[in-house]
Amino acid sequence: MIQTQNPTTGVVERHFTSLTPHQVSVALDRADMAQRSHKTTSFSQRGACVTQLAALLLAEKNHYAALMTREMGKPLTQAVAEVEKCAAACAYYAAEGESLLAPRREKNALIRYDPLGLILGVMPWNFPFWQVIRCAVPVLMAGNGFLLKHASNVPQCALAIQDLFAAAGFIPNLFQTLLVEKEAVAAIIADDRIRGATLTGSEAAGASLASLAGAALKPTVLELGGSDPFIIMPSADLDRAAEAAVQARMLNTGQSCIAAKRFVIHSDVYDAVVQRILAHVDALSVGDPLDPRHNLGPLATQGIRAGLTHDVKATLAAGAKALRTGGPTDGPGFFYAPTVLAEIPMDAPAARKELFGPVVSLYRIATQDEALALANSTPYGLGASVWTHDETEKNFFADGLDAGSITMNGMVRSDPALPFGGVKASGYGRELGPEGIRSFTNMKTLRGLS
Ligand code: NAP
Repeated sequence: MIQTQNPTTGVVERHFTSLTPHQVSVALDRADMAQRSHKTTSFSQRGACVTQLAALLLAEKNHYAALMTREMGKPLTQAVAEVEKCAAACAYYAAEGESLLAPRREKNALIRYDPLGLILGVMPWNFPFWQVIRCAVPVLMAGNGFLLKHASNVPQCALAIQDLFAAAGFIPNLFQTLLVEKEAVAAIIADDRIRGATLTGSEAAGASLASLAGAALKPTVLELGGSDPFIIMPSADLDRAAEAAVQARMLNTGQSCIAAKRFVIHSDVYDAVVQRILAHVDALSVGDPLDPRHNLGPLATQGIRAGLTHDVKATLAAGAKALRTGGPTDGPGFFYAPTVLAEIPMDAPAARKELFGPVVSLYRIATQDEALALANSTPYGLGASVWTHDETEKNFFADGLDAGSITMNGMVRSDPALPFGGVKASGYGRELGPEGIRSFTNMKTLRGLS
């Protein structure tokens, strides 16, 4: 069901009808025509549209932020920051797109990054603008077209983004939002006009898209879930580490792929760190995400809240201790108060799965080997954060952690100029940076051209 259900109130505000297969086919035809013209445009023409896109985003940032908050409950101040980050990514690709895709010489050949054609992007609701912009802008800069299948709970964001690309001056229909349910994705991927696909979301969705694309021999990039470790060793600055720990866990009300989800703390500093973490958790305020006094809004959907409630209960039933018992709150909306779990058995959901919400999972370890083994013990490998001032320890974790991105003494963040992605069940391929813009290109080897 494609609809806006405000997670702050639980009220369904708008329903949308899915496109029929015929309407999807017409959209693909139009996008295909548009891409044939777009691929002949210069980088400066494309860059001008992307620059205009950034200007439009910033000019109405409060409007787009409020739309996100209405559809998925993100605190408004964080939604404004998300729009600003989108504009920064546009600025990066407008300035650097041409040089990142510049042809290069190898031996006697020229290697050129030509566009592939139409790319399908299947996107999640948790960063409804950022996920789309970071993926679509490099795809268009490279000369491709983009078709967006956004999450079913953020249709108004999806339509607003389509309007933004049109208003920015891109050829009409080059970027289109397809309001369709997930069941429609198989036929779209199989369509000859689609030349590649990217999905940001859960492993199940990623595996399904990858197998469909594999059957049709089309390239994919998958940005999937994570259960990032946040390791604190004795030499760390404990005040900074504890403050960053709670920030890294609670951003977007705990619904971020690169949120720190498991806190792996050395026994020498465990009590001191936990005391600090609890103080920061106790200072959090849950409530109306439009009110800047609250740092946590509701969870995005009733289903997310039910899943989280189930996983926390199962973790406690397996023997974990609750240092703070939050959980679903009474009253309207999908609110969930922060929860802190300790002494978690390794077969409990909190140790194995990605908990998508404001739940802190604490682990005590005695050695760096134990920390590494615990950090690598989930199926995921997206990000990791390590807090230590010991250089040998830093290198030990840099070498040993299964993660696409590791930050020493800081939170894991994405940056438009740096490749972003994961290993293991967190996916494959990269978005952002030079690697991101080359993901959907034909790396053409040309001999005999001067
Ligand atoms: P989800 O259920 O996988 O949904 C994501 C998108 O995939 C939605 O558009 C959804 O459409 C679609 N989808 C779901 N099942 C599909 C299928 N079988 N075939 C085709 N499309 C399908 O993910 P979610 O639970 O809402 O989102 C949160 C997940 O995304 C978390 O695991 C999070 O860690 C991950 N994520 C990863 C990154 C990253 O960069 N690595 C970034 C953000 C989020 P419908 O809405 O219509 O079901």
